[in-house]
Amino acid sequence: MPAVKNVLKHVSTETAGRKRKCWRSNKHVIMKGELCLVVIEGPMDTTTYCSECARPMLERAQLELAAITTQFEE
Ligand SMILES: [Zn+2]
Repeated sequence: MPAVKNVLKHVSTETAGRKRKCWRSNKHVIMKGELCLVVIEGPMDTTTYCSECARPMLERAQLELAAITTQFEE
């Protein structure tokens, strides 16, 4: 049993094995070999984002995590 549970299992990064499209805009192209953000929304629902779109999403997630963390501070 791991000591600390990972609650961000639905968010990860992947290196694109082939050219991909960003889910937010089909004008955003993720080239083969580029890092992309992978978000698993459900069993058959995985979305991929380019780095330009990933940054504000991760910044927002950090703010939300910080807000949650603050509630547990003594
Ligand atoms: Zn994008």
